[in-house]
Amino acid sequence: MTAHLIDGKAFSAKVRSNVAEDVSKLKDNHNIKPGLAVVIVGNDPASEIYVKNKVKQTAAVGMNSFHFEMPEETSQEELVAKVKELNADPAVNGILVQLPLPKHMDEAAIIETISPEKDVDGFHVVNSGLLATGGKGMVPCTPLGCILMLKDTLGDLSGKKAIVVGRSNIVGKPMAQLLLNESCTVTIAHSRTKNLEDEVRAADIVVAAVGRAEMVKGDWIKEGATVIDVGINRIPAPERGEGKTRVVGDVEFASAAERAHAITPVPGGVGPMTIACLLKNTVTATCYQNGIEI
Ligand code: NDP
Repeated sequence: MTAHLIDGKAFSAKVRSNVAEDVSKLKDNHNIKPGLAVVIVGNDPASEIYVKNKVKQTAAVGMNSFHFEMPEETSQEELVAKVKELNADPAVNGILVQLPLPKHMDEAAIIETISPEKDVDGFHVVNSGLLATGGKGMVPCTPLGCILMLKDTLGDLSGKKAIVVGRSNIVGKPMAQLLLNESCTVTIAHSRTKNLEDEVRAADIVVAAVGRAEMVKGDWIKEGATVIDVGINRIPAPERGEGKTRVVGDVEFASAAERAHAITPVPGGVGPMTIACLLKNTVTATCYQNGIEI
């Protein structure tokens, strides 16, 4: 392997430590303690682990953490009422409703109920609009983590050719927008893109957010490119024993690392940055709400 490894664990620890410093300044200078409310509906085991982690890390940086567990059979109206209650609560600066929601719920309608100023996931249309028009809004956590890692690794991104593989509202589209805001020349690829490998070969920056194990081949990567692998895919790992699995990204890591200048591993790359950026967004939201410059 020749590529520099972008260590998401170490970098996210740095982001969390900066957040803890900001929280302490907010307390000392403004007597404000930011609060993050997390709402989980139902009992999806993956979501439960993720939420527990969020609660622990929120407390670790000195913020108030409010955690609400609602049963699977919660109605849309009950969840809307809970979100409205949190919108009105001055102790709550950030609201996150853990997705996916149970099938009988309208996710989009729930997201639109969250006050845009408290939407620390950055999924509300007002925040997508602000990101698209260069305004001050909340940026979705995973793409925010990716852009911070890219800037830390490469410095100025201006003029670089970037490709984002994937066009979801939560990763691909905001990622492309952030790269555009950094003056990259951006290509967005998706399932209908023709000659994907040629598109990837032309890019100085490759962000893969597809959800297909190792679909971006190592020999598609341009020599010296920087690769951010957002994908989380669990695949069978018989070499570890019967029934065992392991997690891989959307990029064929070993061969891509032979050609890239820098690359994120999976796990240990983008993943740890997501919660760190959620905490960062909660501080940002608190400052916006109180007219404090950050
Ligand atoms: P979605 O399923 O919402 O979007 C996947 C995108 O990939 C779609 O735009 C789809 O195109 C595109 N796609 C599918 N097949 C191909 C193909 N063969 N060639 C090119 N593009 C293709 O996924 P998400 O954006 O939510 O997540 C992507 C990955 O990132 C997943 O593995 C997810 O687990 C991971 N993830 C990781 C996070 C982290 O914290 N590290 C956070 C969020 C997600 P089309 O639109 O045409 O269907």
